[in-house]
Amino acid sequence: MPHIATTNPATGQVLKTYEAMSTEQLDGAIERTDLAFQQLRETTVDQRARWMNAAADLLDAERDEIARIMTTEMGKTYAAAQAEVTKCATAARFYADKAPAFLADEPADADAVKATRAFIRYQPIGVVLAVMPWNFPLWQVMRFAAPALMAGNTGLLKHASNVPQTALLLEDVFRRAGFPEGAFTTVLVGSDAVDRILSDPRVRAATLTGSEPAGRSIAQIAGRELKKTVLELGGSDPFVVMPSADVDRAAEVATTARCQNNGQSCIAAKRFIVHTDVFDAFAEKFAANMAALRVGDPMDPDTDVGPLASERGRDEVHAQVRDAVDNGATVLCGGERPTGDGWFYPPTVVTDLTPQMRMWSEEVFGPVAGLFRVSSYEEAIAVANGTSFGLGSNAWTRDPAEQERFATDLDAGNVFINGMTTSYPELPFGGVKNSGYGRELSALGMREFCNTKTVWVGEGAASAGAGAHAE
Ligand code: NAP
Repeated sequence: MPHIATTNPATGQVLKTYEAMSTEQLDGAIERTDLAFQQLRETTVDQRARWMNAAADLLDAERDEIARIMTTEMGKTYAAAQAEVTKCATAARFYADKAPAFLADEPADADAVKATRAFIRYQPIGVVLAVMPWNFPLWQVMRFAAPALMAGNTGLLKHASNVPQTALLLEDVFRRAGFPEGAFTTVLVGSDAVDRILSDPRVRAATLTGSEPAGRSIAQIAGRELKKTVLELGGSDPFVVMPSADVDRAAEVATTARCQNNGQSCIAAKRFIVHTDVFDAFAEKFAANMAALRVGDPMDPDTDVGPLASERGRDEVHAQVRDAVDNGATVLCGGERPTGDGWFYPPTVVTDLTPQMRMWSEEVFGPVAGLFRVSSYEEAIAVANGTSFGLGSNAWTRDPAEQERFATDLDAGNVFINGMTTSYPELPFGGVKNSGYGRELSALGMREFCNTKTVWVGEGAASAGAGAHAE
C-alpha cells in the first residue's frame, strides 16, 4: 500500500495519514473528470477566466493558511511558502488575462494553400493527468492547471504522496472558484496507480514533474498508449563565473540559487564552475555566505534553510557528500549530518571533485554545492555541458561577446546571465537531454495540451481537393 501522509520534516512526526483510493473510487474520479470536460469544453474562455480569477482571489485571501500547510508537509520556510502562494495567484491571473489571445484563431496565408480561408484553431483535448512533486507543491501544479483549465481541458492530479493536504486544498480552491464539479480532481493514489490511469481511454495526455526514473516510467506507458506527455525532470544546473563577473554579487546570488527551497529545486544552481582567475575570491565568499545561513525551524522568520523533505532524501544527499569526501574531495563548509529530530542538513560546499565521484554527474537535491575550477571559456562550457541534464543554466560575465556565446553554447532549456534561473508565467520553461521535453508556461505551455487544428476552407466541395495534396 502506498504511504500517503503528512509528516512534518522538521520533527519527523506523522500528523495525518490517508487511505489510497480503491480502484472503484479511482474509476469514479476519472469518470467525473471526463464528464466535467464535456461541460468545460462548451464554456467560453471569458467564463473560464472569471473562475480562474476567482481561484486567484481565494489563493490570495487564504495565503497564510495554505502556506502553513505547505511548510508542515514539506519543510520549506514559511516565507517561501507564502511567496509561492502569491506566485500561483499571479500565474492564474496571467492565464485568465492572456488565454483569449493564446487561444485565438491564427490566420494562415490562404493563397499559398489554395484556400479562400485558412487558419489554426486551438482546442482542448480532454482529461490531462498531472503527476507532480512535493518540492513546490502548489506552484508545480498551478503552472499546469492554470493553462490547462483555461484551454478547456480538465485536470486529474496525482500529487506526491507526502503532500496530500496541499493536493486536496487545490481541488477545493478550483471548486469554490466556480469551475464545474470534477474539472480539477485530486486522486489520492500511489505511483503504482499511474499505469492504470494513463491507460484509461478517457485520459488523453500526461504531464510529469519529477525524477528521471519516474519520467522514464510515464514515457513508457504513454508510448504504449500513444499519448502525449510533457516531462519536467531533474537538473544539475551549472553556474559559471568568468573573470569579468561581479564576484561579490555572483557569490551572493549563488548562495540563494543553491539553497532556495532548502536546496530542493530542479533549477537550483548545483555546479559552480569558476574561472581560475577569480576562483579563490569566489570560493572564499561563497563558502562564508553558505556557512552563515541559519538552518532551523521553517516557521521561524529568521530561518534561511529548513529541513529536507524526507529522511530518505537527506540520507541520499549525505551519501553523495560522503562519496566525494571518501574519494578525495575537500569540504569548504558543512558536510556533517546533524543529530536530533528533523531532517536538517547544513549548507555545504565541496571542491576538488573528479569525474569518478557521484557529485560530478548526479543531481544533488539538498543545500550542497559542487565547486569546479576551470581555466578557459572552452573548459567552462565543457564542464557545464558535461552531464546528462540540460534544465537551467547560469553564466556570470560582463563581457557582451561572452554573454552571446554562453547564450548559444550552454546546452539547457534556459540561460540566465548575471542572475539565477527562475520561472515566470511569461517565459517558456523546460529542459533538454535527460531533463525532459515539452514546455510549460507562456503560450507554449498552454498549447502543449491543445489540438492544434488546421482549418482550410475552399470555395466549394469540388475545389477543396483539386490540386491539393491529401495531407
Ligand atoms: P519523484 O520521486 O519522481 O516523484 C515525483 C512524482 O512522481 C510523485 O507524484 C511520485 O509519486 C511520482 N512517481 C514516482 N515514481 C513514479 C513512477 N515510477 N511512475 C509514476 N509516477 C511516479 O520525484 P521526487 O524525488 O519526489 O522529486 C524531485 C525530483 O523532481 C528531482 O529530480 C527534481 O529535479 C525534479 N523536479 C523537476 C522539476 C522541473 O520542472 N523540471 C521541478 C521540480 C522537481 P509518489 O510520491 O507517490 O512516489
